Amino acid sequence: MMVGMTPGGEDERTRVVVIGAGQAGLSVSWYLRRLGLEVGRDLVVLDRGPGTGGAWQHRWESLRLGAAHRVHDLPGMADLGLGFAAADRSAPARDVVAEQYARYEQALGLDVRRPVEVTGVTGLGGGFSVRWAGRASSGGGVAEAEAEAEAEAEAEAEAGAGAAGAVGAAAVSTGVLLAEVVVNATGTWGAPFVPWYPGRDTFRGRQLHTSDYHAATDLEGLDVVVVGGGTSAIGFVLELDGVAASTTWVSRRPVDWLDQGELDVESAVAAVAEQDRAARAGRALPSIVSGTGVPRTRRFVSGIERGVLVERPVFTSIEPDGVRWADGTFAHADAIVWATGFRPELRHLAPLGLRSAEGGVSVEGGASTLDPHLFFAGYGPQASTIGANRAGRAIARQVVARLSEQDAERRGRGRG
Ligand code: FAD
Repeated sequence: MMVGMTPGGEDERTRVVVIGAGQAGLSVSWYLRRLGLEVGRDLVVLDRGPGTGGAWQHRWESLRLGAAHRVHDLPGMADLGLGFAAADRSAPARDVVAEQYARYEQALGLDVRRPVEVTGVTGLGGGFSVRWAGRASSGGGVAEAEAEAEAEAEAEAEAGAGAAGAVGAAAVSTGVLLAEVVVNATGTWGAPFVPWYPGRDTFRGRQLHTSDYHAATDLEGLDVVVVGGGTSAIGFVLELDGVAASTTWVSRRPVDWLDQGELDVESAVAAVAEQDRAARAGRALPSIVSGTGVPRTRRFVSGIERGVLVERPVFTSIEPDGVRWADGTFAHADAIVWATGFRPELRHLAPLGLRSAEGGVSVEGGASTLDPHLFFAGYGPQASTIGANRAGRAIARQVVARLSEQDAERRGRGRG
């Protein structure tokens, strides 16, 4: 049976669907639980990742918590004996965050359904039909997902080759959830951005984006060009030093180095305000790093002093074996690492037709300006761990207000 459908074949109903269990989705869910919503009956959280941790579970092995930016605790974490301030800074951030989120989800009884990808959201006039595809397992993290996959493989082996199709169908099911409100909290990790340069398609070496980067050793002995002016690009250049044969670091605009050693994204008031203006106007969101600058951490300063971090303007074209600048200078390259950012992950909302002519979606205070039953958590000015936390509170209140209105309308119709 497909999970998500009742035995009678009807689509499952709930009141609120939260898409995404990263910092933003979890924060909204925490507040919704506090405001009385019950998991399953009122609230279903879907996430396409195999485990807990949101985008953090996919980040590269060498990334540590607090490498440049502060990671804020989710609401209520301290009361649960959880928190990032005291978390292990020597372990990979992806493991630390995944573990903390797993315990958080468990304490909230959130029963996140994963790996479940929302493939399309359609408006129903005051509600939504949320189409999903995935394994629809709920609860646990990576270990549970792996155990389930193993159990499936065993069942397949026991049943013999003839049953493989049936097992496959059970492994990837599809379904529809009907909801009165949708909170989209899908982050950006799934929508990497790579700018176009003449000759990009002719390059014979490897091209990888931040989202494909695993470890410096994958690029051992290669001439590597790193593109980008943010903390990810800088981190890659530093860890490739002594591993790659050479590194060339280029950035579209000169890096705006800050004096402080740690950046709290939310404290970068001007950058957050600019994100907010763009979100309200439905414009494509500007790059965050262009507004915040890059903190001068001890590690970064040491990289500059050792001559490892040498900024160059970006090249003007790409050739099969390297990159070329306008003045004719050429750098040989076996690999180009595009640390050039991400865009909001919104493909599954395409049926709602929200895109404005300006290239973005119009969002005010976390709410869609086009559909009062649709919310965006972690979007634009909320795209940091503290921004996502604040979004949680503001959005949950609006969601509950919307549900109360729906209840009042229903009661009115009942009387009429
Ligand atoms: P995510 O963590 O990306 O969560 C979104 C979730 O939605 C994912 O679990 C994904 O599986 C799920 N999803 C996406 N599409 C679908 C779909 N169609 N169906 C179902 N599920 C879906 N911010 C900080 O404050 N401090 C930092 O140190 C910091 N470091 C960063 C480092 C990097 C490299 C990047 C790219 C960003 C960093 N940020 C940092 C900013 C980042 O926005 C925040 O870290 C925050 O965790 C993002 O939370 P989120 O919930 O919005 O998104």
